[in-house]
Amino acid sequence: MSTRPEIEADAQSFIERIFEHLNVAEDVRQRLACAKFSAQVSIPVRMDDGTLEVFQGWRVQYDDTRGPTKGGVRLHPKVSAAEVTDLSFWMTIKCAVVDLPFGGAKGGICVDPKRLSRLELERLSRGYIRAIHDLIGPDRDIPAPDVNSNATVMGWMADEYAQIERRQVPAVITGKPIGLGGSAGRVAATGRGALQVLQLWASREDKSPQQLRIAVQGFGNAGYHFARLAHQAGYRIVALSDSKGAIYDKAGLDPQPIWEHKNQTRELKDMVYCDESVCEQSKAERISHEELLELDVDVLVLAALEDAIDDDNAERIKAKVILEIANGPVTRKADQLLADAGVVILPDVLVNAGGVIVSHLEWVQNRTGDYWSEETVEQRLDERIGKAAEACFARAEAEQVSLRTAAYLQGVERIADAMSNQGTRTYFNARSD
Ligand code: NAD
Repeated sequence: MSTRPEIEADAQSFIERIFEHLNVAEDVRQRLACAKFSAQVSIPVRMDDGTLEVFQGWRVQYDDTRGPTKGGVRLHPKVSAAEVTDLSFWMTIKCAVVDLPFGGAKGGICVDPKRLSRLELERLSRGYIRAIHDLIGPDRDIPAPDVNSNATVMGWMADEYAQIERRQVPAVITGKPIGLGGSAGRVAATGRGALQVLQLWASREDKSPQQLRIAVQGFGNAGYHFARLAHQAGYRIVALSDSKGAIYDKAGLDPQPIWEHKNQTRELKDMVYCDESVCEQSKAERISHEELLELDVDVLVLAALEDAIDDDNAERIKAKVILEIANGPVTRKADQLLADAGVVILPDVLVNAGGVIVSHLEWVQNRTGDYWSEETVEQRLDERIGKAAEACFARAEAEQVSLRTAAYLQGVERIADAMSNQGTRTYFNARSD
């Protein structure tokens, strides 16, 4: 078990720049430079053929000054301690940007879930919870879904926790199926929140949905719900991609039948929507992953993984606006290159906060036993993300900074305020004066 790992140089250099704009105590800088707690666990899983495989997992609780820590569990072959630490840092900032009473955490298991049977995946999910059981709880740290982990996985995890505890503790995990205490509106929350932010930006710029052509990288949970809702709202979705390929139709694609086709087999490994029948059905043209990113569109939505745009491809990006649904999809160097080229970036710590906002609502419902309609949940989501977005837009304008810097200023200021209320060196110096 290791302690206090630092965030990667990229995230570190960005937070240093934020401190140049904010007058915060040195204590705050030091505390935000590394994670409060980090655990690496081994998860032995009996495979269907009788052999044993041991998977590596992590849980990093970055900062809990503003409340119990909150963050998803990623299942991916590239998961590492460094990636989980960066993601937990971004969760800390995000929860503060939208003013939730949570700190930030993240978990992950280094696995290719497409290689596992359903039962193997269930045994792995339950094993992960047995390994981190003592570290989590409704007032301590609350996991949720992330890449490749969905409501079903959260249901297994919540059930494993309940079995160990010998009582029901639904508020320990969010993103559960509705029948197990999940919230109405959770599955679509990230996509819906992202669309809200885009709509608010578009109306400030006097642009109507019909004027904006959108390409979406990452047609998974968040990307699909965003594309579906954006299509309904009148935006033109001209391109979609997943890890297997990309499709383009300048007349516009309807995301719904494409998603249905992709899910037909219910097997992750068979979720290739860009096969002959769909391409014919949608008259879409197959393009490469790189071509999708470099399309001449108004809005490029990044809803896959980190580092989709780096200093190699930044100068070839033609979109005027980037909507970051994924966490960390633009590297810091690329961020600067895009800013120099006049590209507006609507940043991840604001744009993808819809998921954690509805996770908070699920946590509140689990704790009170009072469950709300989808309409109520959506209204609360829209209000919270709308308020945070307007505050970021106003701050960016007032201080002449990027929207990312404005969002970080909002978040770090709240965390710094909470830390100084706990008693920083400044407080003790003031007392001794
Ligand atoms: P998901 O696993 O459902 O979807 C990810 C999608 O990205 C998959 O369709 C995958 O095939 C695709 N993909 C992977 N590599 C790609 C590539 N190189 N090019 C194109 N597509 C590629 O995951 P998700 O839950 O939709 O999460 C997507 C991103 O959004 C992640 O960065 C995640 O951290 C972030 N996010 C998700 C939520 C949420 O509630 N789901 C909340 C906040 C942030």
